[in-house]
Amino acid sequence: MIKALQLRINLHEEGKPDGLLNKAAYDLGMKPSEISGIKILRKSIDARKRRIMFNYKVDVYINEPVPETSDYTFDYKDVSKAKPIHIIGFGPAGMWAALRCIELGFKPIVLERGKNVQDRRRDLKAINQDHIVNEDSNYCFGEGGAGTYSDGKLYTRSLKRGDVRRIFENLVFHGATDQILVDAHPHIGTNKLPKVVQNIRETILEFGGEVHFETRVTDFTLKDNKIVAIQLKNGNELEVEKVILATGHSARDIFYLLNHKNVALKAKSFAMGVRVEHPQEIIDGIQYHCKGEPRDELLPPAAYSLVQQVNNRGVYSFCMCPGGFIVPAATANGEVVVNGMSPSKRNNKFANSGIVTEINADKDLHKYEHFGALKALEYQKDLERLAFTAGGRRQSAPGQRLTDFVEGKLSSSLNETSYQPGLKSAPLHSLLPKMIGGSLRKGFKAFGEKMKGYYTEEANVIGVESRTSSPVNIPRTETLEHPEISNLYPCGEGGGYAGGIVSAAMDGRSGLCWIINYRPFRSF
Ligand SMILES: Cc1cc2nc3c(=O)[nH]c(=O)nc-3n(C[C@H](O)[C@H](O)[C@H](O)COP(=O)(O)OP(=O)(O)OC[C@H]3O[C@@H](n4cnc5c(N)ncnc54)[C@H](O)[C@@H]3O)c2cc1C
Repeated sequence: MIKALQLRINLHEEGKPDGLLNKAAYDLGMKPSEISGIKILRKSIDARKRRIMFNYKVDVYINEPVPETSDYTFDYKDVSKAKPIHIIGFGPAGMWAALRCIELGFKPIVLERGKNVQDRRRDLKAINQDHIVNEDSNYCFGEGGAGTYSDGKLYTRSLKRGDVRRIFENLVFHGATDQILVDAHPHIGTNKLPKVVQNIRETILEFGGEVHFETRVTDFTLKDNKIVAIQLKNGNELEVEKVILATGHSARDIFYLLNHKNVALKAKSFAMGVRVEHPQEIIDGIQYHCKGEPRDELLPPAAYSLVQQVNNRGVYSFCMCPGGFIVPAATANGEVVVNGMSPSKRNNKFANSGIVTEINADKDLHKYEHFGALKALEYQKDLERLAFTAGGRRQSAPGQRLTDFVEGKLSSSLNETSYQPGLKSAPLHSLLPKMIGGSLRKGFKAFGEKMKGYYTEEANVIGVESRTSSPVNIPRTETLEHPEISNLYPCGEGGGYAGGIVSAAMDGRSGLCWIINYRPFRSF
């Protein structure tokens, strides 16, 4: 017999080896010895009150054994001689499109401008230590895309739970911890992601697909509203039948190329701001009600999620990384972009988060109208250049103490930071356009009211957090093809169809069914 239960246990019970078992037995009015085992389906922490509780959704097995975890099988076929589908970009969208090709009997040929995960590390070191950005290999470009050297947070607002679960199972199949199937806020961590990504590549190669690194697509030839060939940076040309464009939101050369060829694009609203960094112990103290003392060892480094309306503009936390690092996420020299990542244990001493505000492409960018569909992109680019100049014309970033930013004062000194290229004190409050700087300053004040202790001089704000989502939309029809180019399938975050690792992977995976004329509901 299997009984489904929702259990709430406190920190003391969580710390005991049989805490959950005893609680389940108590709720069922049984002896613990009568229970064969417990399978945890979901786990979350409720820290809203001083008495912290752990919520569990479990199946309790009585007089029957708990089944072994299934080994998540995927029906991969030998596609070495199958019809090819060309996929540009090997981020989450491109990777899951390639895996789905193999399930459906098509041969994925992946073209990725960046390097494999191992070789990519050297280029990350060069950004952090020598301030040199390789325009093909950086925190956004390379095997696994922007998702590899990230926090690996797997949150998504998608309501298609079955599809989300399938992505998680696939990650576990490729080496991620099965804890992600249970945690309410699952994450993998930047130290574990490269191996998972590499295993995905090996699956693709094993079943006859192709993955070509250091292969940047630079142009394509159109004939009768179809792409008939694509040109590569290395001078080669490939004939193509169907092309999935999964190049991410940082591939500006692709947006320029499409625009130059008069392929329809639309400017897209997006969000921009700064990254704020606190000592993790301050965030723990606020969230776990233990100010001045270390958090209980059973508790993970605390996260937060904040939102505030300021003059009809949303200001909110984005991609919060407990126990993480701020990283230089520029994709070209001459710009500074910050983002966050963290290791699986989230054991660094800082907590960082993007704090951003909405930029409405229709209402806020009048001075950029002449750029047409690229107006939001040009705006984003200008602010990244401004951050580069303010940061000392290197990858060091402009920084300010949080309280100075809000009060409008240049900081005479900055707090310690996890941002390896270093910080330069700069008046971000006056450098950022008012619609961003002004909104954030009010937003931070309000956050300080909601989380007492958050508004502190011990935090730095660092600029600029500009790559939150794509500033351009590449349109597509109901059947997922571009309205003007019948064999081009824009996909993932670059086209404006995803906002994170999971949603990009889902878009890559589910799009395939259309491409080969399946209906979406038959795809899973
Ligand atoms: C530091 C950092 C941390 C992040 N943390 C998280 C997180 O914790 N959770 C989360 O959900 N999201 C996170 N994100 C966002 C997430 O990584 C992206 O939403 C996701 O990777 C988008 O997937 P994608 O496949 O659409 O595009 P991308 O991941 O951007 O992949 C696009 C790929 O296309 C390649 N490409 C571009 N142009 C060309 C070309 N011309 N020819 C060939 N190849 C090309 C690029 O090299 C790249 O590998 C983070 C991003 C960064 C930068």
